[in-house]
Amino acid sequence: MTKRILVTGSDGMVGSALREVLGDDTFFATRADADLRDFEATDRLFKEVQPTHVIHLAAVVGGIGGNIMHSGDFFRSNILINTNVLECARQNDVQRLVSFMSTCIFPAEASYPLSVEDLHNGPPHPSNFGYAYAKRMLDVQTRAYRAQWNSDFVIAVPTNIYGPHDNWNLEEGHVAPALIHKCYLAKQNNEPLMVWGSGNPLREFIYSGDVAKLVTWVLNDYQGTEPIILTSGIEMPIKELVHLVADAMDFTGEIIFQSDKPDGQFRKPSNAQPLLDQIGGFDFTPVDVGIKRTVDWFVANYPNVRL
Ligand code: GDP
Repeated sequence: MTKRILVTGSDGMVGSALREVLGDDTFFATRADADLRDFEATDRLFKEVQPTHVIHLAAVVGGIGGNIMHSGDFFRSNILINTNVLECARQNDVQRLVSFMSTCIFPAEASYPLSVEDLHNGPPHPSNFGYAYAKRMLDVQTRAYRAQWNSDFVIAVPTNIYGPHDNWNLEEGHVAPALIHKCYLAKQNNEPLMVWGSGNPLREFIYSGDVAKLVTWVLNDYQGTEPIILTSGIEMPIKELVHLVADAMDFTGEIIFQSDKPDGQFRKPSNAQPLLDQIGGFDFTPVDVGIKRTVDWFVANYPNVRL
């Protein structure tokens, strides 16, 4: 049977990076092709495309601001999307499916480094509980389908992804795109760059192009059945990210850390070892290089960017 890959949610950041990695045997689906919260629409998409393989990226996501404001919608939409996509993949005989979780759904009080065995061992951080519980159910559904139907479904768990084609919304976006957008405006308007929180929290950042390469490897070559964390294992303080963004943007104005804004979880380092053991080695894009590429893309495309 010829291979045919369906990518859901392909107009986002990882989908755009995958367009540069995957070939003609791929159908890149977006919201315009099907509303995945609707089972009939999802089934129609699967019947039309007839995929043998699926990379399931579609999700309703946001940064700390979006998660706090839309917890109900984030819960419901993600539960529906995942339930429909996995069930349609099963009914339509998909050979292998890779879906996505994120390290931000792990227990707030987890022991570090985060490892997939601890996914359900405690509640998530209250700032994103709606999204987090919905995404945890993806793991439950994946395991239940493997147990009952031997479905070859696996889950990739990237850390904080950044890159071109992100969501640059100032209130609801993730930290890297929000800071890039804010820094751009601060430079234009000769104003200070306002950063949420203390700048001390630590995050692991991964460039979208690296995620695209790694998820292709997961689809074709990952031998395990457990979710696999995609990370370099290198933590960076938000403060340092701010300076990388400012440098890449040639911003020399004042930087203000707003202590009345949320810091979120202080750190959530993850275990890079299972990935390294499986893949052997991988050349991660250094964050300064990835941020420079992302800033250049943003500047070249503004104001025609997703907001
Ligand atoms: P998280 O990793 O799930 O917490 O999500 P984010 O990508 O939203 O990162 C949040 C961290 O970045 C927190 O420590 C915030 O205080 C900090 N941060 C600093 N400025 C911003 C900003 O403009 N937007 C966002 N989303 N976070 C910011």
